[in-house]
Amino acid sequence: MVKKLFISTLVIVLITLGLSVFSVNLVFRQQFGNYLTQTTEAALEQLPEQLAAAYMNGRWDDNVLANVANTLPTGTEVTLKGTDGSIIATLTHPSDEMHSFGTFGGQGMTMGNMMGMNVPYTAQGWKTQSIEVKKVNETLAVATVRYPTTARMLNPQDISFSSSIFHSLLMASGLALVLGVILSYFISRHLAKPLRRLTQAADRIGQGYLEERVAALSKDELGELATAFNVMADNLKRHEELRKQFTADIAHELRTPLTSIRSFIEAFQDGVLPANTENLSAINAEIDRLVFLASDLKDLNIAEMGALQVNPMPVNLVGLIDKVVHNVSPLLQQKNLSLSWEPEARDIEVAGDERLLTRLFYNLVHNAYKYTEPSGRIAINIETRGEEAFVTVADTGIGIAPVELPYVFERFFRTDKSRARETGGSGIGLALVQQIARLHRGEVSVESTLGQGTKFSVRVPLEVRKM
Ligand code: ADP
Repeated sequence: MVKKLFISTLVIVLITLGLSVFSVNLVFRQQFGNYLTQTTEAALEQLPEQLAAAYMNGRWDDNVLANVANTLPTGTEVTLKGTDGSIIATLTHPSDEMHSFGTFGGQGMTMGNMMGMNVPYTAQGWKTQSIEVKKVNETLAVATVRYPTTARMLNPQDISFSSSIFHSLLMASGLALVLGVILSYFISRHLAKPLRRLTQAADRIGQGYLEERVAALSKDELGELATAFNVMADNLKRHEELRKQFTADIAHELRTPLTSIRSFIEAFQDGVLPANTENLSAINAEIDRLVFLASDLKDLNIAEMGALQVNPMPVNLVGLIDKVVHNVSPLLQQKNLSLSWEPEARDIEVAGDERLLTRLFYNLVHNAYKYTEPSGRIAINIETRGEEAFVTVADTGIGIAPVELPYVFERFFRTDKSRARETGGSGIGLALVQQIARLHRGEVSVESTLGQGTKFSVRVPLEVRKM
């Protein structure tokens, strides 16, 4: 990560530097070329007078013409023709002849050469001007002046100026590069630091230290990652606690009926109790409890693996709930709980699995019984809403605290209140209810007020299209 960040920052620095050196160089060359052209044109304005001065006593003075040639801007060529068209002289700056067959100064590869400023003299375009050379209104000759449209740097001052600019540019780029390398090294280390902390925390969690958390980082994507990581660690810890609690609860669930069965058998052996029908059916009830628990666990496991089979058959929900109510009514009577179950219609059919749907409503009604104080009320309602059957199971029981409400459908979850009451639940009843509802393309939800009661609502489509 650090390496990748470092390399990418470095590549960006290099590209930026390369582009800026290239563009500065380009602009400089263009501007400087224009400046030289303007200088050339300014110098040429003096030319008619200078040439006229070379005409003395009816003839052209070679020395003066040579002096004029010396003052010509580099690259300029002046052809002086008489009025009859004959060539009087061709003037060029002395150093131009040298350039025409070599690079400037003949010193091999100079800095200027590398920048492409000092190549053999070939102009990209030429400008031509005709100037009349006059003396006291008499035309002496016509000078044709040819000079490059974009002047090149040919004189030593220009070259040294441009190469010193280029040197400074290179120095600045080198400095920027070194700074860029140092900065990108520290920036990449700084950026990767929170990720290293996250990796360390993930390692610790992997080793089983589930209380490991990362401190809130910045308010950006890394901060979000840290928050998501902490939420994940919280969930892992909660599930670990639930699992431990579940093992303890299951041990308790298994031990209670087994102890009871053993006490009965010891009593039979000691002759304290007769092995009559009543006592044997008490043993049978305890065995039923164990079988129920085992099948709850198995069903939940299979449902969570997505392999629970539903045999969709027409099921009359009203008849099914009738049976559930009938099964629990002895328990309700023992606890003096009143039950209201007055379905408006007798026939509300869904396509589903009768065994599983019985389990669903049994668990809800049985919970209402477990978590409602004696003399409380339980109300079951059914109606059809559009294409769905809608069943509610409400009680006036102990209720569920708002903070615990989101977790009641998680497996092994039991509220603190229900633990304190020693109701002996395992925390898988509602998880199974939810799985069964989903298998039937339905949904279950809960509303509750602590100390006042709880209402579970189940929706199941009347027509289950695909299961
Ligand atoms: P359990 O076997 O513990 O009843 P469930 O999965 O059926 O497991 O329920 C999970 C927890 O939800 C229960 O332990 C209890 O705390 C709470 N709960 C379920 N139904 C009710 C209810 N009708 N009233 C109050 N609390 C309930």
